[in-house]
Amino acid sequence: MKRYDYLIVGSGLFGATVAYRANKAGKKCLVIDRRNHTGGNIYCEEIEGINVHKYGAHIFHTSSKEVWDFVNSIVEFNRYTNSPVANYKGKLYNLPFNMNTFYQMWGVKTPAEAKAKIDEQRAEALEALGGREPANLEEQALSLIGKDIYTTLIKEYTQKQWGRKCTELPAFIIKRLPVRFVYDNNYFNDKYQGIPIGGYNRLIEGLLAGSDVITGVDFFNSQYKEWEKFADKLVFTGAIDEFYDYRFGKLEYRTVHFETETVDTPNYQGNAVVNYTEGSVPYTRIIEHKHFEMFGEEIEKTPKSVISKEFSVEFKEGMEPYYPINNERNNTMADKYRSLAKNETDIIFGGRLAEYKYYDMGPLIESAFKVEI
Ligand SMILES: Cc1cc2nc3c(=O)[nH]c(=O)nc-3n(C[C@H](O)[C@H](O)[C@H](O)COP(=O)(O)OP(=O)(O)OC[C@H]3O[C@@H](n4cnc5c(N)ncnc54)[C@H](O)[C@@H]3O)c2cc1C
Repeated sequence: MKRYDYLIVGSGLFGATVAYRANKAGKKCLVIDRRNHTGGNIYCEEIEGINVHKYGAHIFHTSSKEVWDFVNSIVEFNRYTNSPVANYKGKLYNLPFNMNTFYQMWGVKTPAEAKAKIDEQRAEALEALGGREPANLEEQALSLIGKDIYTTLIKEYTQKQWGRKCTELPAFIIKRLPVRFVYDNNYFNDKYQGIPIGGYNRLIEGLLAGSDVITGVDFFNSQYKEWEKFADKLVFTGAIDEFYDYRFGKLEYRTVHFETETVDTPNYQGNAVVNYTEGSVPYTRIIEHKHFEMFGEEIEKTPKSVISKEFSVEFKEGMEPYYPINNERNNTMADKYRSLAKNETDIIFGGRLAEYKYYDMGPLIESAFKVEI
């Protein structure tokens, strides 16, 4: 039997980054994954020559030069810039909230006019509060941005996302609503953003080169559960509650469901991301995958396009866990699991499921950099 330095459970971005670093340090790694492919949630499936983000749209963004140089040393990234559009009852608005949005909403053309409009609407909301703190998400949003933007771009969209009325959601969900008084539709404030040229699978393949990889194997239902027989150390990126056999209970997640279809047009919506902010449309957004990697004339070269409608759904047994729900119940439970994990020797817990923490890809890589090899 081949002896490894590391058995890595999970071939997502965390496991793959640790594997890469370990390989560079001359260590031998075995990476296993219960899915029938590598890459975890950044995996793409090719349909009609288009890389389809199977587990949701992924846009890489970071302000860390170290992270940016690292991923670009594996595969070059393109110049994709995220600039979503919102559709409310057939009218389109640019996001994030900026001068284009304010022009579309009110016809205002200068930052001073836009600020005056927002201030006027905020004042109305603050007056209605009569000096008390906002008691729910609706009051919070109204006091931050006023009724027009709240009604058109936030209210029904947020209700769809959470499956609850904004008046029943806590105010803290929205701490700030950033507004920009410039004509700039770039969603992220980070210094660097883009998509790997050729797709995310190339990034994962590059990170896993040099490791032995087995897919379709569940750690818990395989010989690898007795990991000490195979490796000196275990890197575990699966769910922490599952690792401890749910002894303190099951952690909850919010999930999303995708309906993906091929459409007979080279350009369906002219943008990668269109949010549907009205309640009567059941999905929250439509992703048109080709726009992540095809620009200008390239768009017309593939005659078809692939779109995914994204729905927010309540998490049930057997569904993909996506976003941790950071309420008191889950945070207390996760802390109990984390304290067990802290006392393990030779087991490293990392990534979104093992830490029960939402990570964007940039910070996730930074945390994988911190693993002592
Ligand atoms: C819908 C959605 C959209 C997102 N969009 C963005 C974005 O635009 N930009 C951004 O920066 N970040 C985004 N993210 C975050 C990004 O997906 C994560 O940072 C990243 O995928 C986490 O990688 P990971 O390795 O921790 O987990 P995962 O990718 O989940 O990998 C864990 C792997 O472990 C495997 N595994 C689990 N249990 C076992 C077991 N028992 N045995 C064997 N294998 C097991 C799983 O099959 C999986 O492949 C998004 C996340 C979601 C949910």
